[in-house]
Amino acid sequence: MIRTREHLEAEERERLAPCAARAAESLGRVVFETAHPYRTAFQRDRDRVLHSRAFRRLEYKTQVFVPHEGDHYRNRLTHTLEGAQIARTIARTLCLNQDLAEAVVLAHDLGHTPFGHAGERVLADLMKDQGGFDHNRQSLRVVDLLEERYPGFRGLNLTMETREGILKHGHPWEHPIPLPPETPHPSLEARVADFADEIAYTNHDLDDGLRSGLLERDQLEEVGLWREVRRETEVRVGKASRRVLDAQTIVSLINRLVTDLVEETDRRVAGTVSIDSVRSSAAPLVGFSPEVERGALQLKRFLSTRLYQHHQVVRAVRKGERVLSELFAVYRDDPARLPPHVVTRFEVDGPARAVADYIAGMTDRFALDEHRKLLDPHEPV
Ligand code: MG
Repeated sequence: MIRTREHLEAEERERLAPCAARAAESLGRVVFETAHPYRTAFQRDRDRVLHSRAFRRLEYKTQVFVPHEGDHYRNRLTHTLEGAQIARTIARTLCLNQDLAEAVVLAHDLGHTPFGHAGERVLADLMKDQGGFDHNRQSLRVVDLLEERYPGFRGLNLTMETREGILKHGHPWEHPIPLPPETPHPSLEARVADFADEIAYTNHDLDDGLRSGLLERDQLEEVGLWREVRRETEVRVGKASRRVLDAQTIVSLINRLVTDLVEETDRRVAGTVSIDSVRSSAAPLVGFSPEVERGALQLKRFLSTRLYQHHQVVRAVRKGERVLSELFAVYRDDPARLPPHVVTRFEVDGPARAVADYIAGMTDRFALDEHRKLLDPHEPV
């Protein structure tokens, strides 16, 4: 028997929590489309994101570590997949809409520049008098404007709910497509996606940091949450190699954070009877317990000073910043060097925005190659 979309929607009505987002009750797409015979609106969003060009490019974008430094480290694609996995677990356990949470995480980093947050800072600075630059907003530009796949509209024409999750917060800037309605609280799925992103990067950055030798185990003893989980893991695992012990500590840490988030959120949403009451809630409904919140914050601070500001990471970051600002300057001063598909966008988006979109879409390696081709006289153009 074929399960149709109507079956799936009926299952959602029955199975999901009253405060969950239901595909059948979606606020819809900007351009009307006939519903799919056997995929819900959010499943379709997820698939559209997965099949986009921007999604494939995530593989060659840095999270923290420069890709050529080692094949074991996370890039933006593996970060996204780990985040999506965590979001599915949280959403499923809380009887929320897994498809929506997954679609949001899969799309959340599409707007990231090459070279991680360094690239974002450079573009934000260069664009400060011309509308600014922010990676959440850029992710929305990608799905709303920059993907070219459909005959009837620009972008992917995703549902309001997925777009709301991508946008995250406030939108004091111009956007040519109607934005999702602003409410005090987004869907629970959007917040779950946000937390899943954070749980994913905190843990994989720890993992990569230890494996690369940039972080030392002794330093981590100053982090309460790590200390606690490490001790538990040593008891649970018994005699094992350091590699297994590290891996198992990360497993336990993810488990600890996810379990706490699920339990605390379950407490907070008790009595929330619909998605409308979620949207009007002044208090944050998804979150960690105060104790784990403090622990997670300490861990994030540790990563910030010991890993993200590690001198070797900073050296790579500075090179990335320089590459992007020089690319921007060359294109701005001499648009004749840009490919025609970017120049044709000048009229619609203005030269600065078209250049920023072009640079933001580059992978790390494309940006490095392009920089060499443009500025090294010995390189072929
Ligand atoms: Mg992320």
